[in-house]
Amino acid sequence: MNRRPGFPARLDLGTPAPAAKAAPARVQPAPPLAPQGLGLDSQAVRTRMVDKLAAQGVRDPRVLAAMGAVERHRFVDSALVNQAYEDTSLPIGLGQTISKPNVVARMVELLLAGTEGQLGRVLEVGTGCGYQAAVLARVAREVYSIERLRGLHDKARDNLRPLRLANVHLLFGDGMQGFARGGPYAGIIAAAGGEAVPTAWVEQLAVGGRIVAPTVMPGGQQALVVVEKGPSGLRQTVLEAVHFVPLKSGVA
Ligand code: SAH
Repeated sequence: MNRRPGFPARLDLGTPAPAAKAAPARVQPAPPLAPQGLGLDSQAVRTRMVDKLAAQGVRDPRVLAAMGAVERHRFVDSALVNQAYEDTSLPIGLGQTISKPNVVARMVELLLAGTEGQLGRVLEVGTGCGYQAAVLARVAREVYSIERLRGLHDKARDNLRPLRLANVHLLFGDGMQGFARGGPYAGIIAAAGGEAVPTAWVEQLAVGGRIVAPTVMPGGQQALVVVEKGPSGLRQTVLEAVHFVPLKSGVA
């Protein structure tokens, strides 16, 4: 298939100035790159990302639809917008990163596995820039997202405000304690890796719900862990290796 070029799809370099009277030719300084000039507002860039996610094995149509709908470039620094739809993690300030689209999609797919339609209440630990919260808002009825760094909590609020997602509740606090008032949760998803899955999360999980969390293994390497809470107990599955920022206690 003939792939369309990504961007700049509509790089607007401005109308060349009419030749001034006998003025020496001067090289115009390049205009600053602005998101709207890169064609990132176009659905085509996200459709291309979603095609790639599907080729990488993401199957759940709910996840693909959500990934196709959320404008990732609105959540990253203006200097990085041209990488917003690449399969790469990006810095979001305060030493933290937004995960690769592929990792977000994989984790949300794991969270939804075995369910149909919309998930109920979800807790996200590690709001960061708010991107994943916006994705979750499209697959779950209510999203509680907690962040321990004030600066990022505020940034996520600013990023999400124009989206007017009435079902996203941003909280500032230590997510290792969970957020009991929002529970019990159909799903809990962590964007930071701890030494173990905190007991508060297990307690706040509804029966039939699942936790998806990067967790440090005995060898020191992080892996994705899924904890399912059934009527007769917990079942833990260890999946592929991942690299997440550390889950830390307390707020800052
Ligand atoms: N989902 C985010 C990814 C953010 S990176 C996004 O889409 O941008 C992980 C985040 O987890 C960081 O912002 C970090 O500060 C936060 N974090 C780490 N430990 C935490 C804790 N105990 N409670 C809440 N947030 C935590």
